[in-house]
Amino acid sequence: MSESRTYLVKTYGCQMNEHDSERISGLLEADGLTRVDDEAEADVIVLNTCCIRENADNKLYGALGHLKGLKEQNPDLQIAVGGCLAQKDRDSVRDRAGHVDVVFGTHNVHRAVELLDHAAEHGPIVEILEATARDDAEAFPSALPTVREVDHAGWLTIQIGCDNSCAFCIVPAVRGPEISRPFGELVAEAEQLAADGVSEITLLGQNVNSFGRDLALGRRQVAASEGGADSDEDLGDAWWCGERWTDDRRARPLFGDLLRAVGAIDGVHRVRYTSPHPKDMRTETFEAMAATPEVCEHLHFPLQSGSDTVLAAMHRGYTAERYLEKLAEARAAIPGLAVSTDIIVGFPGETDADFERTLEVAAAAEYDSAFTFVFSPRPGTEAAELLEADPSLAVPHDVVVERYERLRTVVERSSLKANLSRVGEVEEVTVEGPSKKNPSVLTGRTRRNTLVHFASSDPIKAGSYATVTIVKGNTNHLLGELLEVTIPARHRTRIPVAAG
Ligand code: SF4
Repeated sequence: MSESRTYLVKTYGCQMNEHDSERISGLLEADGLTRVDDEAEADVIVLNTCCIRENADNKLYGALGHLKGLKEQNPDLQIAVGGCLAQKDRDSVRDRAGHVDVVFGTHNVHRAVELLDHAAEHGPIVEILEATARDDAEAFPSALPTVREVDHAGWLTIQIGCDNSCAFCIVPAVRGPEISRPFGELVAEAEQLAADGVSEITLLGQNVNSFGRDLALGRRQVAASEGGADSDEDLGDAWWCGERWTDDRRARPLFGDLLRAVGAIDGVHRVRYTSPHPKDMRTETFEAMAATPEVCEHLHFPLQSGSDTVLAAMHRGYTAERYLEKLAEARAAIPGLAVSTDIIVGFPGETDADFERTLEVAAAAEYDSAFTFVFSPRPGTEAAELLEADPSLAVPHDVVVERYERLRTVVERSSLKANLSRVGEVEEVTVEGPSKKNPSVLTGRTRRNTLVHFASSDPIKAGSYATVTIVKGNTNHLLGELLEVTIPARHRTRIPVAAG
Protein backbone atom coordinates (compact mmCIF):
# COMPACT_ATOMS: atom_id res chain seq x y z
CA MET A 1 0.00 0.00 0.00
CA SER A 2 1.26 3.49 -0.79
CA GLU A 3 2.16 5.87 2.02
CA SER A 4 -0.41 8.45 1.00
CA ARG A 5 -3.42 6.24 1.73
CA THR A 6 -5.73 7.17 4.57
CA TYR A 7 -8.10 5.27 6.88
CA LEU A 8 -10.95 5.70 9.32
CA VAL A 9 -12.08 3.10 11.88
CA LYS A 10 -15.61 3.43 13.24
CA THR A 11 -16.39 1.48 16.38
CA TYR A 12 -19.74 0.18 17.56
CA GLY A 13 -20.13 -1.50 20.94
CA CYS A 14 -18.21 -2.49 24.00
CA GLN A 15 -14.70 -1.88 25.32
CA MET A 16 -13.52 -5.14 23.80
CA ASN A 17 -14.49 -3.74 20.40
CA GLU A 18 -12.88 -0.38 21.10
CA HIS A 19 -9.70 -2.22 21.98
CA ASP A 20 -9.91 -4.30 18.78
CA SER A 21 -10.31 -1.02 16.88
CA GLU A 22 -7.11 0.29 18.44
CA ARG A 23 -5.38 -2.81 17.10
CA ILE A 24 -6.91 -2.41 13.64
CA SER A 25 -5.74 1.23 13.58
CA GLY A 26 -2.30 0.11 14.70
CA LEU A 27 -2.12 -2.46 11.91
CA LEU A 28 -3.22 0.06 9.28
CA GLU A 29 -0.70 2.65 10.48
CA ALA A 30 2.03 0.03 10.53
CA ASP A 31 1.10 -0.54 6.88
CA GLY A 32 1.68 3.16 6.12
CA LEU A 33 -1.88 4.49 6.25
CA THR A 34 -2.69 7.79 7.93
CA ARG A 35 -5.77 8.36 10.06
CA VAL A 36 -8.39 10.92 8.97
CA ASP A 37 -11.61 11.99 10.71
CA ASP A 38 -13.68 12.64 7.60
CA GLU A 39 -15.15 9.64 5.74
CA ALA A 40 -14.94 11.57 2.48
CA GLU A 41 -11.14 11.75 2.81
CA ALA A 42 -10.61 8.07 3.66
CA ASP A 43 -9.26 5.44 1.28
CA VAL A 44 -10.14 2.67 3.74
CA ILE A 45 -13.10 2.66 6.10
CA VAL A 46 -13.39 -0.12 8.68
CA LEU A 47 -16.65 -0.59 10.56
CA ASN A 48 -15.95 -2.62 13.70
CA THR A 49 -19.38 -3.93 14.64
CA CYS A 50 -21.11 -5.22 17.73
CA CYS A 51 -24.21 -7.39 18.03
CA ILE A 52 -24.60 -7.05 21.78
CA ARG A 53 -26.24 -3.63 21.71
CA GLU A 54 -29.74 -2.90 20.50
CA ASN A 55 -30.35 -2.10 16.82
CA ALA A 56 -26.87 -3.21 15.85
CA ASP A 57 -28.06 -4.39 12.44
CA ASN A 58 -29.90 -1.15 11.71
CA LYS A 59 -26.88 0.92 12.69
CA LEU A 60 -24.50 -1.10 10.53
CA TYR A 61 -26.67 -1.24 7.44
CA GLY A 62 -27.63 2.42 7.87
CA ALA A 63 -23.92 3.32 7.89
CA LEU A 64 -23.23 1.03 4.93
CA GLY A 65 -26.10 2.62 2.99
CA HIS A 66 -24.47 6.00 3.50
CA LEU A 67 -21.07 4.65 2.44
CA LYS A 68 -22.53 3.27 -0.78
CA GLY A 69 -22.81 6.84 -2.11
CA LEU A 70 -19.20 7.52 -1.20
CA LYS A 71 -18.07 4.35 -2.94
CA GLU A 72 -19.93 5.36 -6.07
CA GLN A 73 -18.06 8.68 -6.08
CA ASN A 74 -14.75 7.00 -5.27
CA PRO A 75 -14.58 3.41 -6.57
CA ASP A 76 -11.11 3.00 -5.01
CA LEU A 77 -12.57 3.38 -1.53
CA GLN A 78 -12.25 0.10 0.40
CA ILE A 79 -14.91 -0.76 2.95
CA ALA A 80 -14.30 -3.46 5.56
CA VAL A 81 -16.73 -4.80 8.16
CA GLY A 82 -15.32 -6.63 11.19
CA GLY A 83 -16.42 -7.56 14.72
CA CYS A 84 -19.24 -9.54 16.31
CA LEU A 85 -21.97 -8.76 13.81
CA ALA A 86 -19.70 -9.72 10.92
CA GLN A 87 -18.85 -12.94 12.77
CA LYS A 88 -22.55 -13.73 13.20
CA ASP A 89 -23.91 -12.59 9.83
CA ARG A 90 -20.96 -13.71 7.66
CA ASP A 91 -21.94 -13.89 3.97
CA SER A 92 -25.19 -12.02 4.54
CA VAL A 93 -23.21 -8.78 5.07
CA ARG A 94 -22.21 -8.82 1.39
CA ASP A 95 -25.65 -10.08 0.38
CA ARG A 96 -27.17 -6.99 1.93
CA ALA A 97 -24.34 -4.59 1.04
CA GLY A 98 -22.50 -5.74 -2.08
CA HIS A 99 -20.19 -2.71 -1.99
CA VAL A 100 -18.35 -4.09 1.07
CA ASP A 101 -14.85 -5.26 0.11
CA VAL A 102 -13.82 -7.22 3.19
CA VAL A 103 -15.73 -9.04 5.93
CA PHE A 104 -13.66 -10.41 8.80
CA GLY A 105 -14.64 -11.84 12.18
CA THR A 106 -13.58 -11.59 15.79
CA HIS A 107 -10.91 -14.28 15.45
CA ASN A 108 -8.95 -12.74 12.59
CA VAL A 109 -8.60 -9.04 13.46
CA HIS A 110 -4.86 -9.56 12.91
CA ARG A 111 -5.54 -10.33 9.22
CA ALA A 112 -7.25 -7.01 8.46
CA VAL A 113 -4.46 -5.53 6.34
CA GLU A 114 -3.77 -8.75 4.41
CA LEU A 115 -7.47 -9.08 3.62
CA LEU A 116 -7.65 -5.48 2.38
CA ASP A 117 -4.60 -6.11 0.15
CA HIS A 118 -6.18 -9.32 -1.11
CA ALA A 119 -9.44 -7.53 -1.91
CA ALA A 120 -7.59 -4.75 -3.78
CA GLU A 121 -5.99 -7.35 -6.03
CA HIS A 122 -8.61 -10.09 -6.34
CA GLY A 123 -11.96 -8.55 -5.36
CA PRO A 124 -14.21 -8.83 -2.30
CA ILE A 125 -13.40 -11.39 0.39
CA VAL A 126 -15.21 -12.82 3.42
CA GLU A 127 -12.99 -14.54 5.99
CA ILE A 128 -14.60 -15.72 9.21
CA LEU A 129 -12.69 -18.10 11.47
CA GLU A 130 -14.67 -20.24 13.90
CA ALA A 131 -12.24 -19.90 16.78
CA THR A 132 -8.95 -18.38 17.85
CA ALA A 133 -6.20 -20.96 17.75
CA ARG A 134 -4.64 -21.13 21.21
CA ASP A 135 -1.15 -21.36 19.77
CA ASP A 136 -1.61 -18.61 17.18
CA ALA A 137 0.31 -15.82 18.91
CA GLU A 138 -0.54 -13.38 16.13
CA ALA A 139 -4.23 -13.69 16.90
CA PHE A 140 -3.70 -12.24 20.38
CA PRO A 141 -3.55 -8.51 20.84
CA SER A 142 -0.02 -8.42 22.28
CA ALA A 143 1.43 -9.32 18.90
CA LEU A 144 -0.29 -6.43 17.14
CA PRO A 145 0.65 -2.76 16.92
CA THR A 146 -1.80 -0.38 18.61
CA VAL A 147 -2.99 3.20 18.27
CA ARG A 148 -4.41 4.01 21.72
CA GLU A 149 -7.43 6.28 22.01
CA VAL A 150 -6.11 7.90 25.18
CA ASP A 151 -2.39 7.99 25.91
CA HIS A 152 -2.33 7.81 29.69
CA ALA A 153 -4.74 4.87 29.94
CA GLY A 154 -4.41 1.52 28.21
CA TRP A 155 -6.35 -1.70 27.94
CA LEU A 156 -4.75 -5.08 28.39
CA THR A 157 -6.77 -7.95 26.93
CA ILE A 158 -6.03 -10.80 29.32
CA GLN A 159 -8.52 -13.29 27.96
CA ILE A 160 -10.80 -13.70 24.99
CA GLY A 161 -14.09 -15.60 24.66
CA CYS A 162 -16.44 -16.85 27.34
CA ASP A 163 -17.32 -20.32 28.66
CA ASN A 164 -20.66 -19.23 30.12
CA SER A 165 -24.01 -19.40 28.41
CA CYS A 166 -26.08 -16.46 29.66
CA ALA A 167 -29.38 -16.79 27.83
CA PHE A 168 -29.45 -13.15 26.69
CA CYS A 169 -25.86 -12.94 25.43
CA ILE A 170 -24.38 -13.58 22.00
CA VAL A 171 -20.74 -13.38 23.13
CA PRO A 172 -20.01 -17.13 23.47
CA ALA A 173 -21.34 -17.65 19.92
CA VAL A 174 -19.27 -14.89 18.35
CA ARG A 175 -16.15 -14.77 20.53
CA GLY A 176 -15.73 -18.53 21.20
CA PRO A 177 -14.54 -20.31 24.34
CA GLU A 178 -12.37 -18.64 27.00
CA ILE A 179 -8.67 -18.46 26.25
CA SER A 180 -6.39 -16.78 28.79
CA ARG A 181 -3.15 -15.28 27.64
CA PRO A 182 0.03 -16.49 29.37
CA PHE A 183 0.79 -14.71 32.63
CA GLY A 184 4.36 -13.75 31.71
CA GLU A 185 3.27 -12.33 28.37
CA LEU A 186 0.66 -10.15 30.08
CA VAL A 187 3.13 -8.80 32.62
CA ALA A 188 5.57 -8.02 29.80
CA GLU A 189 2.86 -6.16 27.87
CA ALA A 190 1.86 -4.21 30.99
CA GLU A 191 5.53 -3.28 31.51
CA GLN A 192 5.68 -2.04 27.92
CA LEU A 193 2.52 0.02 28.42
CA ALA A 194 4.06 1.58 31.54
CA ALA A 195 7.29 2.27 29.65
CA ASP A 196 5.18 4.09 27.02
CA GLY A 197 3.77 6.39 29.71
CA VAL A 198 0.51 4.57 30.44
CA SER A 199 -0.22 4.96 34.14
CA GLU A 200 -3.73 3.43 34.26
CA ILE A 201 -4.23 -0.10 32.97
CA THR A 202 -7.62 -1.77 32.61
CA LEU A 203 -7.54 -5.56 32.42
CA LEU A 204 -10.10 -6.61 29.85
CA GLY A 205 -11.98 -9.86 29.34
CA GLN A 206 -15.53 -11.09 28.76
CA ASN A 207 -15.35 -12.94 32.06
CA VAL A 208 -12.22 -11.33 33.35
CA ASN A 209 -12.04 -12.84 36.84
CA SER A 210 -12.02 -16.41 35.53
CA PHE A 211 -8.64 -15.59 33.98
CA GLY A 212 -6.21 -18.48 34.34
CA ARG A 213 -8.81 -21.20 34.78
CA ASP A 214 -8.04 -22.65 31.35
CA LEU A 215 -4.28 -22.25 31.88
CA ALA A 216 -4.38 -24.25 35.12
CA LEU A 217 -6.61 -26.86 33.48
CA GLY A 218 -4.31 -27.09 30.46
CA ARG A 219 -1.29 -27.65 32.71
CA ARG A 220 -3.08 -30.34 34.66
CA GLN A 221 -4.02 -32.09 31.40
CA VAL A 222 -0.42 -31.94 30.19
CA ALA A 223 0.82 -33.24 33.55
CA ALA A 224 -1.74 -36.08 33.46
CA SER A 225 -0.83 -37.05 29.90
CA GLU A 226 2.83 -37.13 30.94
CA GLY A 227 2.21 -39.53 33.79
CA GLY A 228 1.24 -37.15 36.56
CA ALA A 229 4.34 -35.01 36.53
CA ASP A 230 3.84 -31.81 38.51
CA SER A 231 7.31 -30.51 39.15
CA ASP A 232 8.05 -26.78 38.94
CA GLU A 233 9.58 -27.22 35.49
CA ASP A 234 6.42 -28.88 34.18
CA LEU A 235 4.26 -25.99 35.27
CA GLY A 236 6.01 -23.19 33.36
CA ASP A 237 6.14 -19.61 34.60
CA ALA A 238 2.47 -19.18 35.33
CA TRP A 239 2.57 -19.30 39.11
CA TRP A 240 5.16 -16.54 39.40
CA CYS A 241 3.01 -13.83 40.93
CA GLY A 242 4.94 -10.66 40.29
CA GLU A 243 6.76 -10.37 43.57
CA ARG A 244 6.68 -13.80 45.08
CA TRP A 245 6.32 -17.53 44.51
CA THR A 246 3.03 -18.97 45.63
CA ASP A 247 2.53 -22.13 47.67
CA ASP A 248 -0.51 -23.32 45.76
CA ARG A 249 1.18 -23.83 42.42
CA ARG A 250 -1.19 -26.01 40.50
CA ALA A 251 -4.19 -23.71 40.89
CA ARG A 252 -2.20 -20.77 39.52
CA PRO A 253 -2.36 -18.25 38.04
CA LEU A 254 -5.38 -16.68 39.71
CA PHE A 255 -6.84 -13.41 38.53
CA GLY A 256 -5.73 -11.89 41.84
CA ASP A 257 -2.13 -12.87 41.05
CA LEU A 258 -2.34 -10.80 37.88
CA LEU A 259 -3.80 -7.81 39.74
CA ARG A 260 -0.86 -7.93 42.16
CA ALA A 261 1.72 -8.35 39.39
CA VAL A 262 0.41 -5.49 37.23
CA GLY A 263 0.06 -3.24 40.26
CA ALA A 264 3.71 -3.90 41.15
CA ILE A 265 5.03 -2.56 37.82
CA ASP A 266 6.94 0.71 38.01
CA GLY A 267 4.90 3.58 36.58
CA VAL A 268 1.53 1.86 36.95
CA HIS A 269 -0.54 4.06 39.21
CA ARG A 270 -4.03 2.65 38.73
CA VAL A 271 -5.34 -0.79 37.79
CA ARG A 272 -8.96 -1.50 36.87
CA TYR A 273 -10.71 -4.49 35.35
CA THR A 274 -13.90 -5.30 33.48
CA SER A 275 -16.13 -7.28 33.35
CA PRO A 276 -16.16 -9.84 36.14
CA HIS A 277 -18.83 -12.49 36.73
CA PRO A 278 -20.22 -12.73 40.28
CA LYS A 279 -20.30 -16.53 40.23
CA ASP A 280 -16.54 -16.69 39.57
CA MET A 281 -15.58 -14.02 42.11
CA ARG A 282 -13.12 -15.48 44.62
CA THR A 283 -11.98 -14.31 48.02
CA GLU A 284 -8.43 -14.15 46.61
CA THR A 285 -9.52 -11.43 44.16
CA PHE A 286 -10.85 -9.26 46.98
CA GLU A 287 -7.67 -9.93 48.97
CA ALA A 288 -5.53 -8.93 46.01
CA MET A 289 -7.56 -5.75 45.50
CA ALA A 290 -7.18 -4.84 49.16
CA ALA A 291 -3.47 -5.64 49.24
CA THR A 292 -2.55 -3.79 46.03
CA PRO A 293 -2.79 -0.01 46.45
CA GLU A 294 -2.74 0.51 42.67
CA VAL A 295 -5.98 -1.46 42.19
CA CYS A 296 -8.83 1.05 42.34
CA GLU A 297 -11.65 0.73 44.87
CA HIS A 298 -14.24 0.03 42.22
CA LEU A 299 -16.05 -3.21 41.44
CA HIS A 300 -18.38 -3.65 38.49
CA PHE A 301 -20.59 -6.50 39.68
CA PRO A 302 -23.34 -7.33 37.14
CA LEU A 303 -26.54 -8.43 38.92
CA GLN A 304 -28.78 -8.72 35.81
CA SER A 305 -31.83 -9.63 37.96
CA GLY A 306 -32.71 -9.94 41.64
CA SER A 307 -35.12 -12.81 41.07
CA ASP A 308 -33.73 -16.31 41.54
CA THR A 309 -36.22 -17.60 38.97
CA VAL A 310 -35.03 -15.13 36.35
CA LEU A 311 -31.38 -15.66 37.27
CA ALA A 312 -31.86 -19.40 36.73
CA ALA A 313 -33.57 -18.79 33.38
CA MET A 314 -30.64 -16.56 32.43
CA HIS A 315 -28.16 -19.32 33.52
CA ARG A 316 -26.27 -16.85 35.69
CA GLY A 317 -25.10 -19.45 38.22
CA TYR A 318 -25.86 -17.54 41.44
CA THR A 319 -28.84 -16.61 43.58
CA ALA A 320 -29.59 -13.11 44.80
CA GLU A 321 -28.61 -14.13 48.31
CA ARG A 322 -25.25 -15.49 47.18
CA TYR A 323 -24.68 -12.33 45.14
CA LEU A 324 -25.34 -10.10 48.15
CA GLU A 325 -23.07 -12.28 50.32
CA LYS A 326 -20.20 -11.84 47.86
CA LEU A 327 -20.87 -8.12 47.68
CA ALA A 328 -20.75 -7.88 51.49
CA GLU A 329 -17.47 -9.81 51.45
CA ALA A 330 -16.04 -7.39 48.88
CA ARG A 331 -17.08 -4.34 50.89
CA ALA A 332 -15.68 -5.81 54.11
CA ALA A 333 -12.35 -6.51 52.41
CA ILE A 334 -11.94 -3.23 50.50
CA PRO A 335 -12.65 -0.03 52.45
CA GLY A 336 -14.50 2.64 50.45
CA LEU A 337 -15.36 0.24 47.62
CA ALA A 338 -17.66 1.71 44.94
CA VAL A 339 -19.93 -0.78 43.20
CA SER A 340 -21.61 -0.53 39.81
CA THR A 341 -23.81 -3.06 38.06
CA ASP A 342 -25.82 -4.10 34.99
CA ILE A 343 -29.52 -4.92 35.33
CA ILE A 344 -31.90 -6.12 32.62
CA VAL A 345 -35.58 -5.20 32.93
CA GLY A 346 -38.27 -7.29 31.22
CA PHE A 347 -36.44 -10.58 30.60
CA PRO A 348 -38.94 -13.02 29.03
CA GLY A 349 -41.35 -14.28 31.68
CA GLU A 350 -40.31 -11.68 34.32
CA THR A 351 -43.31 -11.33 36.66
CA ASP A 352 -44.27 -8.46 38.97
CA ALA A 353 -42.93 -10.52 41.87
CA ASP A 354 -39.63 -11.12 40.04
CA PHE A 355 -39.24 -7.42 39.42
CA GLU A 356 -40.10 -6.50 43.02
CA ARG A 357 -37.26 -8.78 44.07
CA THR A 358 -34.92 -6.95 41.67
CA LEU A 359 -35.90 -3.67 43.30
CA GLU A 360 -35.25 -5.13 46.77
CA VAL A 361 -31.83 -6.48 45.82
CA ALA A 362 -30.84 -3.25 44.04
CA ALA A 363 -31.87 -1.25 47.12
CA ALA A 364 -29.93 -3.61 49.41
CA ALA A 365 -26.85 -3.46 47.17
CA GLU A 366 -26.76 0.36 47.36
CA TYR A 367 -25.04 0.78 44.02
CA ASP A 368 -22.92 3.80 43.23
CA SER A 369 -24.08 3.54 39.62
CA ALA A 370 -25.90 1.13 37.36
CA PHE A 371 -26.34 0.42 33.68
CA THR A 372 -30.00 -0.51 33.36
CA PHE A 373 -31.23 -2.08 30.13
CA VAL A 374 -34.62 -2.91 28.73
CA PHE A 375 -34.47 -6.52 27.50
CA SER A 376 -34.32 -6.81 23.77
CA PRO A 377 -33.81 -10.19 22.07
CA ARG A 378 -30.53 -10.67 20.27
CA PRO A 379 -30.89 -13.05 17.32
CA GLY A 380 -29.02 -16.28 17.95
CA THR A 381 -29.44 -16.24 21.74
CA GLU A 382 -31.42 -18.68 23.84
CA ALA A 383 -33.67 -15.87 25.10
CA ALA A 384 -34.58 -14.87 21.55
CA GLU A 385 -35.44 -18.49 20.69
CA LEU A 386 -37.48 -18.79 23.88
CA LEU A 387 -39.49 -15.75 22.94
CA GLU A 388 -40.00 -16.92 19.40
CA ALA A 389 -41.30 -20.28 20.66
CA ASP A 390 -43.63 -18.63 23.18
CA PRO A 391 -44.38 -14.96 22.45
CA SER A 392 -46.61 -14.82 25.56
CA LEU A 393 -43.39 -14.66 27.63
CA ALA A 394 -42.75 -11.11 26.35
CA VAL A 395 -43.31 -8.48 29.04
CA PRO A 396 -45.68 -5.78 27.67
CA HIS A 397 -43.93 -2.57 26.67
CA ASP A 398 -45.85 -0.31 29.11
CA VAL A 399 -45.03 -2.66 31.98
CA VAL A 400 -41.34 -2.64 31.06
CA VAL A 401 -41.29 1.16 30.85
CA GLU A 402 -42.87 1.48 34.28
CA ARG A 403 -40.47 -1.07 35.81
CA TYR A 404 -37.51 0.64 34.21
CA GLU A 405 -38.46 3.98 35.74
CA ARG A 406 -38.96 2.45 39.19
CA LEU A 407 -35.56 0.78 39.02
CA ARG A 408 -33.93 4.01 37.87
CA THR A 409 -35.37 5.79 40.91
CA VAL A 410 -33.93 3.17 43.28
CA VAL A 411 -30.51 3.29 41.65
CA GLU A 412 -30.39 7.10 41.51
CA ARG A 413 -31.26 7.27 45.19
CA SER A 414 -28.23 5.18 46.16
CA SER A 415 -25.98 6.98 43.65
CA LEU A 416 -26.87 10.33 45.14
CA LYS A 417 -26.41 9.03 48.68
CA ALA A 418 -22.95 7.67 47.77
CA ASN A 419 -21.91 10.92 46.08
CA LEU A 420 -23.20 13.09 48.96
CA SER A 421 -21.14 10.98 51.37
CA ARG A 422 -17.97 12.09 49.52
CA VAL A 423 -18.52 15.80 50.23
CA GLY A 424 -15.62 17.12 52.30
CA GLU A 425 -13.34 14.23 51.26
CA VAL A 426 -10.06 14.78 49.43
CA GLU A 427 -9.99 12.54 46.37
CA GLU A 428 -7.34 11.81 43.79
CA VAL A 429 -8.48 12.27 40.19
CA THR A 430 -6.98 11.43 36.82
CA VAL A 431 -7.44 14.54 34.71
CA GLU A 432 -9.32 13.61 31.52
CA GLY A 433 -9.50 17.09 29.94
CA PRO A 434 -12.10 19.85 29.59
CA SER A 435 -15.68 18.92 30.49
CA LYS A 436 -17.78 18.11 27.40
CA LYS A 437 -20.66 20.27 28.62
CA ASN A 438 -18.62 23.13 30.03
CA PRO A 439 -15.12 23.46 28.53
CA SER A 440 -14.17 26.07 31.13
CA VAL A 441 -13.94 23.35 33.79
CA LEU A 442 -11.84 20.20 33.86
CA THR A 443 -13.12 16.67 34.28
CA GLY A 444 -11.34 14.04 36.31
CA ARG A 445 -12.13 10.53 37.47
CA THR A 446 -11.73 9.31 41.03
CA ARG A 447 -10.33 5.93 41.99
CA ARG A 448 -13.97 4.96 42.67
CA ASN A 449 -14.67 5.78 38.99
CA THR A 450 -16.83 8.85 39.63
CA LEU A 451 -16.56 11.92 37.41
CA VAL A 452 -15.50 15.14 39.14
CA HIS A 453 -15.74 18.59 37.57
CA PHE A 454 -13.38 21.23 38.93
CA ALA A 455 -11.87 24.55 37.90
CA SER A 456 -8.19 25.28 37.42
CA SER A 457 -6.54 28.63 36.73
CA ASP A 458 -3.74 26.84 34.85
CA PRO A 459 -4.12 24.25 32.11
CA ILE A 460 -3.49 20.69 33.30
CA LYS A 461 -2.49 18.04 30.77
CA ALA A 462 -4.82 15.04 30.42
CA GLY A 463 -3.34 12.05 32.20
CA SER A 464 -2.03 14.08 35.15
CA TYR A 465 -3.10 13.16 38.66
CA ALA A 466 -4.42 15.80 41.03
CA THR A 467 -6.12 16.02 44.39
CA VAL A 468 -9.46 17.80 44.79
CA THR A 469 -11.72 18.51 47.73
CA ILE A 470 -15.27 17.34 46.98
CA VAL A 471 -17.67 20.23 47.55
CA LYS A 472 -20.91 18.90 46.04
CA GLY A 473 -22.43 15.55 45.20
CA ASN A 474 -24.94 15.03 42.38
CA THR A 475 -26.49 11.82 41.11
CA ASN A 476 -23.99 11.23 38.33
CA HIS A 477 -21.00 13.38 39.19
CA LEU A 478 -19.18 15.36 41.85
CA LEU A 479 -17.98 18.95 41.99
CA GLY A 480 -14.55 19.58 43.43
CA GLU A 481 -11.97 22.25 44.22
CA LEU A 482 -8.45 21.67 43.00
CA LEU A 483 -5.80 21.27 45.68
CA GLU A 484 -2.70 20.35 43.67
CA VAL A 485 -1.33 18.38 40.75
CA THR A 486 0.39 15.39 42.31
CA ILE A 487 1.74 13.56 39.25
CA PRO A 488 2.14 15.40 35.92
CA ALA A 489 1.28 13.44 32.75
CA ARG A 490 4.26 11.68 31.19
CA HIS A 491 2.81 10.05 28.08
CA ARG A 492 3.41 10.89 24.42
CA THR A 493 1.14 12.69 21.95
CA ARG A 494 -2.47 11.61 21.62
CA ILE A 495 -3.73 9.98 18.38
CA PRO A 496 -7.44 9.28 18.81
CA VAL A 497 -9.53 6.55 17.14
CA ALA A 498 -12.93 7.68 15.78
CA ALA A 499 -15.92 6.17 17.60
CA GLY A 500 -19.18 5.41 15.87
S1 SF4 B 1 -20.55 -14.14 31.25
FE1 SF4 B 1 -22.58 -14.22 30.29
S2 SF4 B 1 -22.98 -12.05 29.78
FE2 SF4 B 1 -20.79 -12.20 30.14
S3 SF4 B 1 -19.88 -12.59 28.11
FE3 SF4 B 1 -20.22 -14.60 29.06
S4 SF4 B 1 -22.23 -15.27 28.34
FE4 SF4 B 1 -22.09 -13.04 27.96
